Order: sequence, then C-alpha cells, then structure tokens
Amino acid sequence: MARYIYINGQYAPYHHAVSHVEDRAYLFGDAIYEVIAYINGYYADERAHLDRLERSLKELKIEMPVSRRNLQLLMREVIRKNRHKNAAIYIQISRGRAKRDFKFPANDTPPSLMIMTWDYDFESKAIVEKGLRIKTMNDLRWKRRDIKTILLLPQSMAKQEAVDCGYDDAWMVDDHGFITEGSSNNAYIVKDKKIITRPVSCDILKGATRNAIEKLCDQSDYKFIEQDFTPEEAYEADEAFVSSATAMIAPVVEIDDHKLGNGKPSEVFHFVRKEYLDYVHGLKMQPMSWESGLNA
Ligand code: PLP
Repeated sequence: MARYIYINGQYAPYHHAVSHVEDRAYLFGDAIYEVIAYINGYYADERAHLDRLERSLKELKIEMPVSRRNLQLLMREVIRKNRHKNAAIYIQISRGRAKRDFKFPANDTPPSLMIMTWDYDFESKAIVEKGLRIKTMNDLRWKRRDIKTILLLPQSMAKQEAVDCGYDDAWMVDDHGFITEGSSNNAYIVKDKKIITRPVSCDILKGATRNAIEKLCDQSDYKFIEQDFTPEEAYEADEAFVSSATAMIAPVVEIDDHKLGNGKPSEVFHFVRKEYLDYVHGLKMQPMSWESGLNA
C-alpha cells in the first residue's frame, strides 16, 4: 500500500514527497512542529496540541498556513489514505521558501505545511513492563524551549549519548543542577504520593500530556507539585516516569545506575497511565485547552 504525505497542497506518495532546498526549515531550522497520537480512532488531546501549534507559530511570527478546521481535515485525510488504526501524526510548518538570508522573507511568503503519519504501537508492552533507564547530562539547548521548534540537535545528541552508554533516554540538567526534562518528554519523580515536575517556564516544553496529568491528579489522592529537583533527589524517589504524546506515560526504573523503589514500574505510574488512557478515549474530563501560563 502506498504511503501518502501531505506537503504544500498535495497528498504525495512517500517517494515523491519533497521539500525545496531553500525552505527555511532546511536552512535555518525555521519551523515548528507538533506530534499528535491517533489511538483507536481518537485524536488524543487534539485541541491542546493545536492550541500549542498556534502559539508556537505566534511566538515565531509565522502565519498559520490554513485554518485550524482545514488542518484537522487534512490530518484526517492523511490518516484515511494511509489506513491507520494507530498512528503518530507529525505536523511541520516552516516560514516557507526564500533566498538564504538571516532576516525573515517578505510577509507574503507562503509558509510550508507538511503532515506525515506512521503506524505506532501505543500499547507496547515492552516499555510499560520493563521501564526506562535514564542517564542525566547537561542541557545544551537554547533559551526558548517553550516553543516547539524543529531545532532538536541537542536533544538528539543527548539521546544518542544515553544510548551509547547503555541507557534508554536522557534527562537534561540545567546550569543550576536541576533537571529540566527528557530528550523528548517531560520528567516526573514521585515521593510520598507527591508527583513532582519542573515548573512551567521557557526552560521546558509545556507538554500537552503534562497538562492533562496535572488536571487528572487534581481529582486523585496524589498531589501534583511543580518544583525543581536535582538528579540526587531523583535517585531517592519512590518512582519516576516521563510523558509525551507518543510515549504517553512511560515508567522510569533507573537513573544513573540508581534503582528506584523495587526497580519495577509501580503504583503511581500505573494509576497515571490508566487515567490518561481513559482521558484520551473520552472517558474522563473534557478535552483540554493549552493555556500558555508562560512569562515569555
Ligand atoms: N518536552 C520535550 C522536550 C518534548 O520534545 C516533548 C514532546 O515532544 C514533550 C516535553 C512532551 O510534550 P507532549 O506531551 O505535548 O507531547
């Protein structure tokens, strides 16, 4: 079966989906993206992701190439054409194509839009049963991590270093010794029924999944606390986990060779994952918006 990618007005077969060499995504990383999970017919947290997509564009002064409604229709058509049951939907919008110049091109330069999907096993037992081993390392990123840009080389390097050292993923640590987040997810530790995660600021990407977890915890016995924490505090945690659109909620069982709790995915992780799955299947809470709450 052919796989289709939507690119600048066309549903192109995979091998014909090409971008121009002068597209600013290619030359400057001048683009934003979103990833939305399509799970069993549900577009998980779609509203929050599209809110954040619009915010990222606004922060970079890039126009929305189509209306939100049309973007939703395009996503659905790519899913339909590719006959997905479960998929990751990748949406990328760049400032468009223009002669290489550091200043932005003329205002009438059309932004580029690409929508790519791939099959995704969201219920993968391997990670949920085994858990992730995390390596901490310096956070080398720029100062506007709240914008979901395609400038991902520092995260890619962090993940590769973790993998080269025999771990599954990286948690990045700022210049003050506090953990910011994972290479492509938000990071949480659990201590005495408190779920602790980095406060929202320009230092992290405020995850749509994180948003939902916060609200789901408000209705539970667990307290959601936004507080800086160090790797040493993480070593002493009862449990830890990460969240993102595709990983959803994934357990962490080891950090820098310190085993957490009994070294297995535990109670709070199972609770949060179940609540989140119910939420994306429309069984809990109304779809959430993505309020900015940022001081940028
Ligand atoms: N933090 C970073 C650096 C990410 O790249 C991601 C997801 O790509 C997240 C957090 C989680 O965001 P979301 O839950 O919206 O997928």
